[in-house]
Amino acid sequence: MSKYVERVLKETAARNGNEPEFLQAVDEVLTTLDPVLKKNPQYEANAILERMVEPERVIMFRVPWVDDKGIVRVNRGYRIQMNSAIGPYKGGLRFDPTVNLGVLKFLAFEQVFKNSLTTLPMGGGKGGSDFNPKQSPHTPGKRCSDAEVMRFCQSFMTELFRHIGPDTDVPAGDMNVGGREIGYLFGQYKRLANEWTGVLTGKGLSFGGSLIRPEATGYGDIYFAENMLAMRGEKFEGKKCVISGSGNVASFAAQKLMKLGATVMTLSDRSGAIFCESGITEKMLKDIMVLKTVKRGELADFAKKTKAVKFFAGKNSWQIADKIDAAFPCARQNELNGKDAEYLLKHGCTLVGEGANMPSTPDAIAAFLKAKIMYSPGKASNAGGVATSGLEMSQNSERLSWTAEEVDSKLKGIMKSIHDNAWEAAAKYGDKGNYVMGANIAGFVKVADAMVAQGVC
Ligand code: NDP
Repeated sequence: MSKYVERVLKETAARNGNEPEFLQAVDEVLTTLDPVLKKNPQYEANAILERMVEPERVIMFRVPWVDDKGIVRVNRGYRIQMNSAIGPYKGGLRFDPTVNLGVLKFLAFEQVFKNSLTTLPMGGGKGGSDFNPKQSPHTPGKRCSDAEVMRFCQSFMTELFRHIGPDTDVPAGDMNVGGREIGYLFGQYKRLANEWTGVLTGKGLSFGGSLIRPEATGYGDIYFAENMLAMRGEKFEGKKCVISGSGNVASFAAQKLMKLGATVMTLSDRSGAIFCESGITEKMLKDIMVLKTVKRGELADFAKKTKAVKFFAGKNSWQIADKIDAAFPCARQNELNGKDAEYLLKHGCTLVGEGANMPSTPDAIAAFLKAKIMYSPGKASNAGGVATSGLEMSQNSERLSWTAEEVDSKLKGIMKSIHDNAWEAAAKYGDKGNYVMGANIAGFVKVADAMVAQGVC
């Protein structure tokens, strides 16, 4: 590791010692950049790394709201405006009790490189709240009602609206922020700003949303993996796959894999994992999607009613099947550890395509790289979601709606460009097939060059 990287890592750790996820994300990127830093001394001279690890702006605010019993509740809201060198801040909002400053800074940092990789003009940001829509504050075991979620979203936007705008910062969904929440947030923004603009993406189709946006992250993950397979002359047909999660990203990744003739054996959620060796069917997947997005239930409930699947309470998807060709972590950060990686490799896995952000721990990543399997980091393979958000912004600006086929074909093209750019950067800097290094370098160079050109700001 160069002295420059070593020094910046040390200073970042000293300044952000209580933010382990942020430090993990910074470490993962900076430790791969030496070859490009060596060839381009202007980056160190312009303190590019020091500036990239410091958000341009952090906004933290109180979110007071009234629950269905009339009790006043208080949550904390955040928006991290990380880097706007190549475009307005862009990145999702996450509502989850695990949300804190460090988690959102890690996500915002990742987003900067991811957005750069999409080839679209988008800077990086992320936000959210420690609000838990899955747990009512007054009735244990029950979820928040739609009215409670709406009141929370309205209060959240009442502060956030002054910091965002179509040319400033364009938030989207993330964990627990889907179509329902984006609708409520957009409604409140429109009311406060007195303007109808594409300030949020992931909107409903009747008010400026893009076809294929809900599917885009999961589909994009699989398109990226198809490109990796093509480099080895392989296809998905007949491959046995395991997926974690059963939310937005996981369910559409599963849907695309099924369409390509692969067998999807697992899905998971907070209650546990379901397993079906012969393959979860399209009908089962449809029922699961309704269960998760409409009834807002758990896989444990689904398993009780479906004899064809086995249920593993409290387990993730990795250490269940005997023969695995490909794994897709699509739930949350650090959900696949060194032991899981060892199991996957031992049971035949030659492809890991991350749909979630930073789902593999550093020792899992090291094992995948050592085994030289096809391993794509989330910032490359889950970029299809934000890329399609970029396409939604273009459609909103043009006041036009493109067809599903048009958007899907653009998404496929973008995922191929991301794959090829990461592949070429890795090869150029001496580690062919290392998508971690390739994606980091390809994402970094564009942002770093823009920052140098824009002077010290
Ligand atoms: P969802 O909220 O739709 O789904 C998240 C899934 O992960 C759910 O199945 C959830 O289970 C599960 N999960 C969350 N926390 C835990 C936990 N502690 N233990 C076990 N399971 C858990 O989110 P998304 O699908 O949108 O996002 C998933 C990942 O993909 C995140 O890392 C997100 O940042 C990333 N991502 C999402 C994009 C998007 O477009 N949506 C774009 C790029 C990245 P349960 O239902 O029980 O809560």
